[in-house]
Amino acid sequence: MQIVLYLVYLFASVLFILGIKRLGSPKTARQGNFLSALGMFLAIVVTLFDKEVISFEYIIIGLVVGSLIGGILAIKVPMTGMPQMVGLLNGFGGGASALVAFAEYFKELNTGMSFEISTLVTIVLSVLIGSITFTGSLIAFGKLQELITGKVVKYPLQNPINILLFLVVIVAGVLVVIDPSRTDLLYVIGGISLILGVLLVLPIGGADMPVAVSLLNSYSGIAASMTGFVLGNNMLIIAGALVGASGIILTMIMCKGMNRSLMNVVLGGWEDAGSGGSGEGGLQGTAKSVDAEELAMLLDSAQNVVIVPGYGMAVAQAQHAVRDLTNILEKKRINVRFAIHPVAGRMPGHMNVLLAEAQVSYDKLFALEDINDDFPNVDIAIVVGANDVVNPAARHDKNSPIYGMPILNVDYAKTVIVNKRSMNVGYAGIQNELFFYPNTLMYFGSAKEAINKLNNELKEL
Ligand code: NDP
Repeated sequence: MQIVLYLVYLFASVLFILGIKRLGSPKTARQGNFLSALGMFLAIVVTLFDKEVISFEYIIIGLVVGSLIGGILAIKVPMTGMPQMVGLLNGFGGGASALVAFAEYFKELNTGMSFEISTLVTIVLSVLIGSITFTGSLIAFGKLQELITGKVVKYPLQNPINILLFLVVIVAGVLVVIDPSRTDLLYVIGGISLILGVLLVLPIGGADMPVAVSLLNSYSGIAASMTGFVLGNNMLIIAGALVGASGIILTMIMCKGMNRSLMNVVLGGWEDAGSGGSGEGGLQGTAKSVDAEELAMLLDSAQNVVIVPGYGMAVAQAQHAVRDLTNILEKKRINVRFAIHPVAGRMPGHMNVLLAEAQVSYDKLFALEDINDDFPNVDIAIVVGANDVVNPAARHDKNSPIYGMPILNVDYAKTVIVNKRSMNVGYAGIQNELFFYPNTLMYFGSAKEAINKLNNELKEL
């Protein structure tokens, strides 16, 4: 039986690795998701056959309640709410790892077994990282859901307090390893780690929260991996390591996409830097606007169009309208492509998922580095609900908080159409000079209605 268990764990681990690999491309992502879910399903089923299971009743109750909550959340949460949903799930993962480590500690203590040093070290690490992940993720969720302030929160002696608490945890951890009967100290480690989770995430600004969520995702993986060592469960070690590594890779991709260092994000830099406001902010000239009819005529004479989706398209759920626009333009023999910025929206891949949902074919989607040089050949670039990712200040204005962030060079197109509801700022809180460029036309309106209106006008031509 034990051999079957190990073999299925090994097979499940292979499925996780293949699943992650397939998630790397939109074409194979669904299959990747399926393979990983299948791996997790098999792992759960064989674990239930393990003779160490002592209460199937509790497991079934947990399974039913958890599946119900998870299923309802997954169906109800909008794509724009994904970062906080992921945040919450990470938090529960971290919390579960800490609880399992506690349970294993008490089990060994009560049965009078002698602790191995490696088990004690991993119990301490599991409690530490799991607890930080739990409260840190709850704070991240609260900020993204606007239950608590999304602003950068700073307080006196912030870093010295954190360092002091961390040192106390380390010393307590060493003492537990030396004397495993010190239950009180394990509680101290858990308690302080819970506080540390709050203190570490509180200073991070709401705008940086998706990066923090991704980092916490990585922590939850490391905590799970540590718990795998505690339990001697190879599959948990592998699965946790995969989550830990992919979380950190995702974090780095986001930081690179915003040209920020991880330290700058973690210490809460950006929100302070944003000049904010929705006024002209010293920008010269006035923005010109265009209506659906004029825009339809403009598009009718174009040959080469690039659509740049952003967060506004996601909020407005305008991806289907944008797909219709693509079809109409293509019927008129106009070449349509999509330019996808790595951090457009609120999570990497956000735009790809939405467009895939609307059946836009993958070969029309181009990453920033693959399309940026081609903008001078583009007749019309249509920006749908994007702002920061097309702000030319990032290229040349050293005083701009987003200076150095790679952007889509839509301003090099012959004409730029920007669809948004107002002149309001985007996530970084800064005005966009693109709106005042001579080749830019603002097309105001909420994306779904505005694009549908444009589609109707185009059909009448
Ligand atoms: P932005 O947040 O810069 O801009 C979105 C724009 O959409 C707003 O200016 C808003 O203008 C407009 N909008 C909102 N609702 C609608 C609507 N219903 N219809 C039409 N327009 C609408 O989004 P971008 O996608 O350009 O940039 C993403 C930002 O998020 C970047 O700053 C990025 O760094 C940040 N970020 C992204 C992460 C990621 O991984 N993707 C992670 C962390 C941060 P108005 O109110 O006038 O309509």
